[in-house]
Amino acid sequence: MNTQIKDAPEKVSPQHEVIIIGAGVAGIYQLYRLKELKVDAVVLEAAGGLGGTWYHNRYPGCRFDSESYTYGFSFSKELLDEWHWKERFSGQPENLRYLTHVAHKFDLRKHMQFNAKVASAHYDEISDIWRVHLADGRDLTSRFLITGLGLLSAPTLPKLADMDSFKGPSFHTYYWPHEPIDLRGKRVAVIGTGATGVQVIAEIADKVGDLTVFQRRPNWCAPLNNGPISEAEMADIRKRYDQIFETCLRTPGGFEHEPDRRGFYEVSREERIALWDRLYGEPGFGIWLCNFREIFTDEVANAEFSEYIAGRIRARIKDPVLAEKLIPKDHGFGIQRVPLETRYYEAYNRENVHLVDIRETPIERITPTGLKTTAAEYEFDVIIYATGFDAITGSFDRIDIRGVGGQRLSDKWADGPVTFLGMQVHGFPNFITIAGPQSGSASTNFPRGIEVGVDWVMRVLKYTWEHKYTRVEPTPEAEERWTRHVANMYSTMLMRKAKGWFTGYNSNVAGHEAGKIRHLVYNGGSPKYRATITQVADEDFKGMVFR
Ligand code: NAP
Repeated sequence: MNTQIKDAPEKVSPQHEVIIIGAGVAGIYQLYRLKELKVDAVVLEAAGGLGGTWYHNRYPGCRFDSESYTYGFSFSKELLDEWHWKERFSGQPENLRYLTHVAHKFDLRKHMQFNAKVASAHYDEISDIWRVHLADGRDLTSRFLITGLGLLSAPTLPKLADMDSFKGPSFHTYYWPHEPIDLRGKRVAVIGTGATGVQVIAEIADKVGDLTVFQRRPNWCAPLNNGPISEAEMADIRKRYDQIFETCLRTPGGFEHEPDRRGFYEVSREERIALWDRLYGEPGFGIWLCNFREIFTDEVANAEFSEYIAGRIRARIKDPVLAEKLIPKDHGFGIQRVPLETRYYEAYNRENVHLVDIRETPIERITPTGLKTTAAEYEFDVIIYATGFDAITGSFDRIDIRGVGGQRLSDKWADGPVTFLGMQVHGFPNFITIAGPQSGSASTNFPRGIEVGVDWVMRVLKYTWEHKYTRVEPTPEAEERWTRHVANMYSTMLMRKAKGWFTGYNSNVAGHEAGKIRHLVYNGGSPKYRATITQVADEDFKGMVFR
């Protein structure tokens, strides 16, 4: 008898305990926490430097719409004491300097590899490790794969005819050139009027020769009300940091802004107007987040408030016909992400700024010298695409991620993400998505959510190490429950009716063009999310399987 004894495949040890993809806010903090414990971790970053969003988005006007001092990391008193935020809503160059300073101060850079674009990550079930392949041909392995990919890091361009034919510079705002580009006196086109387009338009309107904005749907925008932070104010903020971060932990959005607890219908119209008048003049997201909660859930309340904002817009634009074009008619205030602006509406009062409504006259094609709509041909020196992102799941889809049995993550998520707590996926062991789709960390003032998410991830990792496990993943039942919970919350929110990135809408991505909602965002608010993930950890990670 001829018996063949087949060797059992050998387990291999990983090169690194943890690979983190992305050197933005999430990757930096995750690396910091691992290095505190002297864990062997490496960050792989596709870009040429750290900073994520703040590395890429160098367009004029790019700035926080979180109060700067609520955006900084809270983990180091020394860091809080030494950093002076110069503006209430700090601009991109300063934000990138801050993150660079953090990485330098905590000696994190030496654990980061730049221009290290992850092409694929495959789970090896024999060894319980991740095999990561880089676009430059290198291969790495790790026990855990943690993603800090960012929410809005897969930019999307429109699919217009002859896009490459334009002879001048043209680029997506995410890829704004690193070398200075002089727009003075130039004829500039901006396509897109989301939060990015709104910032660019307001910033360049008085600097360029001529600016033409191609708008498909207007957004509801409100004033940022930015201003400088003096030495004395900063000293006061430093004294109050504990209290500021405590407030941020308590509020649904992770900001200092707290919802008005009065019922919309319990107060008179005069009282509502008084609140809105005050909020319109205050800095930041107060107008959205300090409002009555019914604004988010009740059509009548939302319509009344939207009409109030429409009045504000009308008052700021000289030409009444133009004003109507800038007022959304297809959705109410705040059910899509609200862009905060500085003199945005006033830009349209300038003679050198023109608005083209491309629902009336769609763009037919890009030409060597500009673009052509159904009504006219335009000549430009520069074309700026502020056309948004394949939100949250897009950056996962751009990596070939495969779990147990070779299952592709992009297939599993084809109809929308399926996750446990927005941080783990069944069939993808040892894979942790900080601020992944459906995580509370993704739908809050970002660093506040990141700190909560990463601190929970550290509990998972420590538990795994202490028990000498090599594999952790959620059960399918726990994942199904979480995904249903996230979907159910959409059903109470007016947001479900919006065509914005909160519902996974993107007209430039096949399968995401309206219609079916993709439940990308957790809407329960940050305190509830924190309580839920803490309870999971306290109950020995109920819903997760370790071995
Ligand atoms: P966005 O909100 O998705 O806006 C994209 C814009 O481009 C929309 O006006 C969209 O029109 C238009 N567009 C897309 N495809 C088009 C096409 N094929 N033809 C014509 N127009 C097209 O993207 P974003 O402005 O980059 O903002 C994304 C998110 O980034 C924001 O919601 C926010 O969360 C974040 N952000 C934050 C800050 C900040 O913190 N300060 C600043 C900027 C951005 P439709 O509406 O008709 O689709």
